[in-house]
Amino acid sequence: MLKCAAMNKQNNIDQLQRFIFDKTAVRGNHVNLSLTIARALQHHHYPAMLKNALSELMVASTLLAATLKMQGSLILQMQGKGALKLLVVECTSALEIRATAKWSGNISQGSFLDLLSQGHFVITLDPKDGGQTYQGIVPIEGNSIAEILQNYMQRSEQIETRIWLASDDNQAAGMLLQKLPEQLEVDTDAWNRVCHLADTVTDEELRGLDATSLLHRLFHEENVRIFDAHLAQFKCRCTRQNVGNMLRMLGADEITSILAERENIEVHCDFCNQAYMFDAVDAAQLLASDTTMSMPKMAH
Ligand SMILES: [Zn+2]
Repeated sequence: MLKCAAMNKQNNIDQLQRFIFDKTAVRGNHVNLSLTIARALQHHHYPAMLKNALSELMVASTLLAATLKMQGSLILQMQGKGALKLLVVECTSALEIRATAKWSGNISQGSFLDLLSQGHFVITLDPKDGGQTYQGIVPIEGNSIAEILQNYMQRSEQIETRIWLASDDNQAAGMLLQKLPEQLEVDTDAWNRVCHLADTVTDEELRGLDATSLLHRLFHEENVRIFDAHLAQFKCRCTRQNVGNMLRMLGADEITSILAERENIEVHCDFCNQAYMFDAVDAAQLLASDTTMSMPKMAH
């Protein structure tokens, strides 16, 4: 049985759907990010394997961000020691998502996780209300992005979490289930039962079905309550000021030497590829301005 608080199915936007299983401590989220991912990755020519990994990481970050009460950003990073250097995905509490990756040389050989072996997974919570930034760093352990995140949540946050992710060239979607620790469990078998049902999901169903159809397909014998859908979308937070702050960190000597060779310094946002131009006058203003300003965060 499926109770819908709101049906808001539209085809031209991406939506996150929260749901709970009535009279249990189990809650969940579903999201399809196909449009968001197309927009977020269109400015870069990522190898297919990397595009796939960034897609899954974007879906996972949205599913996790939607479980947080915090106002701010959730940033997931995978840092490698080989040719694949870095994957960064950020999702705000308003479900505005962006992503970027850094690599050098040939990454067409080997699987994504082979390329990240010996690497680290970093999760950062960056509250925008001035609260304390939280960062957790763990080795990359698991056979998939979903498994790496599940292991992290289990060990570091001690919240039972299961994540299912699926992506191809055109679609990327996922589902998360969490067992709320603080609630008195009246239906003690619910978590195992619901996870067992969710494990029957196929990649095709995850990618192709909207939340209502998917939840009905998986949990039609459970009492699922679906809440209002939330818009999820690509949006970059870069500003000229933040890019300028980053440029200033290069130092006066470096900036002066670049401007001796060319008229402008052109800086592109790693996430959205927006170009920002700084000429000699801009650079002088940058260098003259207060250098005690806070350091720009990883996400500029
Ligand atoms: Zn940007």
